[in-house]
Amino acid sequence: MKAWTVGVRALCEFTARSGDLDLRFTPAATAQEGMLGHQQLKLRRPEHYEAEVPLSYEMEGLLVRGRADGFDPVSNCLEELKTYRGAFDAIPEHHRRLHQAQAKVYAAMLCQERDLPGMTVSVVYYHVDKHKETSISEYLERTDLWAFFEQQCRAYVAWGRQEQKHRLARDQACTALQFPYEQFRAGQRQLAVAAFRAQRDAQCLLAQAPTGIGKTLAVIFPGLKAMPEAGLDKLFYLTAKNSGRQMALDALQRLSPDGEGAWRVLEMVARDKQCPNPDKACHGQSCPLAEGFYDRLPAARQQALEQPMLTSQRLQQVASEHQVCPYYLSQEMLRWADAIVGDYNYFFDTHAVLYSQTLVQQWRSAVLVDEAHNLVERARSMYSASFSQVQLRMARKAAPSALKRHFAPLTRLMEDLIPEEGGDQWGRKKIPEDLLEQCEYLAARLGAYVAENPMPQDSPLLQFYFELLYFVDLAGQFGSHSLFDILAQRDGVLLNLRNIVPAPFLAERYGDAHGVVLFSGTMNPSQFYRDVLGLPPSTAELNVASPYRAEQLRVRQYAGLSTRYADRAQSLSGVCDIVGQAYQEQPGNYLLFLSSFDYLEQVSQALQERWPDMPLWHQQPGMSDLQRTQFLDRFTLDGRGVGLAVLGGAFSEGVDLPGKRLIGAFIATLGLPQFNPANESVRQVMARLFGERRAYDYTYLYPGLRKITQAAGRVIRDELDQGFVYLLDERYGQRRVQQLLPDWWQIEQVRTDARSGQSLR
Ligand code: SF4
Repeated sequence: MKAWTVGVRALCEFTARSGDLDLRFTPAATAQEGMLGHQQLKLRRPEHYEAEVPLSYEMEGLLVRGRADGFDPVSNCLEELKTYRGAFDAIPEHHRRLHQAQAKVYAAMLCQERDLPGMTVSVVYYHVDKHKETSISEYLERTDLWAFFEQQCRAYVAWGRQEQKHRLARDQACTALQFPYEQFRAGQRQLAVAAFRAQRDAQCLLAQAPTGIGKTLAVIFPGLKAMPEAGLDKLFYLTAKNSGRQMALDALQRLSPDGEGAWRVLEMVARDKQCPNPDKACHGQSCPLAEGFYDRLPAARQQALEQPMLTSQRLQQVASEHQVCPYYLSQEMLRWADAIVGDYNYFFDTHAVLYSQTLVQQWRSAVLVDEAHNLVERARSMYSASFSQVQLRMARKAAPSALKRHFAPLTRLMEDLIPEEGGDQWGRKKIPEDLLEQCEYLAARLGAYVAENPMPQDSPLLQFYFELLYFVDLAGQFGSHSLFDILAQRDGVLLNLRNIVPAPFLAERYGDAHGVVLFSGTMNPSQFYRDVLGLPPSTAELNVASPYRAEQLRVRQYAGLSTRYADRAQSLSGVCDIVGQAYQEQPGNYLLFLSSFDYLEQVSQALQERWPDMPLWHQQPGMSDLQRTQFLDRFTLDGRGVGLAVLGGAFSEGVDLPGKRLIGAFIATLGLPQFNPANESVRQVMARLFGERRAYDYTYLYPGLRKITQAAGRVIRDELDQGFVYLLDERYGQRRVQQLLPDWWQIEQVRTDARSGQSLR
C-alpha cells in the first residue's frame, strides 16, 4: 500500500492540540504580512542560515513531510517562525502548543537526517507592527526529540491507515455506483453526462434544466462517479436555501450503497443555528463546551466518523454526548468528510472555510452550485460593506477616553457628507480619498487597541471595528465592479460600498476548484450569468429541454391590464375579478404573486370585499421558519383558497407543491426591479462593463423575468401535473418578454377591460 502522506502542520494539528477552544478575537497578521515578516526575519539571519529546509520521514507507512522555516548550523538551532500582532500574551495557549510541536517534529527529522546529537529548538514570534522578535527556545536531545516524533506519528498512524482504507473503499464504491432508479427521467441523463464531464475534465459547466427532472441527483451521481477518476478529495454541494440542502442530503443517502458509509456526508449549518449556548462566548472561561474542547475532540471525532450521514441533528447528538461545541466539531469534521452540503457562503464568501481549506490542504474539490441564479444576489452581498454614522457614534461612546480622539477626523468628514437637502447620493465611482484615509487611520488605531485589550465579541467597539475593517478591505479592492453610496438616514449618513458585478471576486474561486457545475431551472440568457458571475470562457453550456407539454399548463396573458407602479390603484378591480373568476371556475389552491407587501395588502383588501367567501392567506414580512411552514401547510390536496405572496420572496422558489396542492399561479407584476436612483446606478455599471445595449436587460429585464419563471415553476412539478398560470400585465404581450419565458409555454392572449378584468373576447 502506498504511504499515507501528511504535512507536519496537519500532523500536529491532529495530535498536539489540547485544552480549551479559544476563539476570542486576536488580531492576526494577514497572509501578506506573514510572508513579509518571514522575509524580514531571514534578512536578520547570518549568511550560512538555511531557510526552508525540506524534510521528510516515513514511519509505519506514514510519510511525514514539510519545510522547516530555518536552521542555523553554526549555533545548531532550528527555528519555527510565526508572525503575530497585538499582545504576545494574547496568543492562545493551544496555538503555542501547536507551534512548539511543529518545531520539535522538524527538529527530530533534522537530527535524524544529519545525525546530530540534539539541537536548540526555537519558536520565534515576530510582531509585524513593532518588528520585534520573541523566542521561546530549549535545547533537546535527539532521543527526546525522536521519542516525541514517534509519539506524534503513532497517534496518527492508526488514523492515517483508517483514512487510507476509507479512501480506497470510497473510490471503489464510487466506481461501482449505479443509478438508483431503473431509468433516468427525460433530460436527467443529459445533465448527468455533462456534469460528469465537467468534473472529469476540471471544467465549469453552466446548466439550465427544468424543475422536476431530478437535477440534484443528476449532478451528485456523476460527482461521486468522477471521484476516483478525477482524484477528487471533496464534493461540495452548495445551496442558497435550506430546502436545497435537504434534497442534496436525501440524494446522497439514496445513492449510498445500503444507505450506509461508503462516503461520509457532512451538513454544514451556521453557528447561530447550531450553538446551544448563545449567551456565551467561544472560549473556555465562558462556554463549558469550549473548555477542554481539544481534550474531548478525539473521541467525539471518532464517533462522528462512525455516522456516515452527519446531518446537523446527528452532529448535535454526538457533540452533546462528548460535551463539545457542535459548531466547531463540524468545522473539524469537514476535513474528514467526502461530501459537504452547505450554504454558498462556505465557498464563495471572503473568509469561506471550504475555500480556504481547499487551498491549505490542496484538495481537489468538486463544486456543485444549486439554483445558481441566486449566486448573483448572494455574491453581491458577500462583496459589499457598509457602516453608519450611528455605529461610529456608538463605537466612540464605548471607546476608552484615550481612543476617543482618533474618531474625530472621520466623524467630521462624515458630518460634512450629510447633504443639505438630505438626499441620497447613489452610485459614486470613487471613494473620496480623505474619507478612505480616515477609515484606514481609525481601523489601524482600533486594531492596535483591540489587539492589546481583549473584549467580548458583542462589544459595539469590536463590532464596529469588524465593519470598518471589512469596509477598508473591500475599499482596497474597489473597482468598476462596485459603487460607493452616501445615504442620508434619520441620524446621520450610511456609507455603502455596493458590489454590482461580483465576477472578479468569484473568478478565482472557480480557478481553485477542480470542476464547477452551476445549475438551475432559470439561467436564461446564459451570457448574463457568464458575465456577471465571471465564468471562464471555456465554460460549457447545457440547456435541457423541458419534458413538459404545453397541454399541461394553460398560460393566459391579460392584455389591457397594467400593474405598473403608477397604474396599481386602477389595476385592483381587474386583478380581483380575474383571480375570483378563475377560482370560481376551477376551485383549488392558488398562489397570487405581487410586487410588494404594500400592493399585496391593497389586493388582499380588494379581494376580501369582492369575494368574501374565497379563503385567503398572506405572506408576512420576516416570517419565521415555522410561519413559512404554516403558510405552505394551507396547500392541502383537497384545499381551496389563494395564498398571497411577494414575487421573489420566500414562496416564489424552492417550494414544492405537487398535484392538487397547487393548481395555479397568478402573477400580477412583471417583476422588474423598481426604477430608482439605486437601480439606475446599477444600469450605468452594466453599461460601462457590458455595453449600453445590454445595460437595461441586465439591470431590469433579466432579473425580473427570472423571478417570473421561478414563481410560475411552482405549478408544474412533474409530467403528470396540470395547472394554470395567469400573467396579469399587458407587457407580457411584448415579444422580447415572451422570448425569456419557457419555450414550451403556449400563451393565450386575453383582452380585458382594465378596470373590471372582464374578458373582451
Ligand atoms: S457552544 Fe456556542 S458559545 Fe460555546 S463554543 Fe460553541 S458556538 Fe461558541
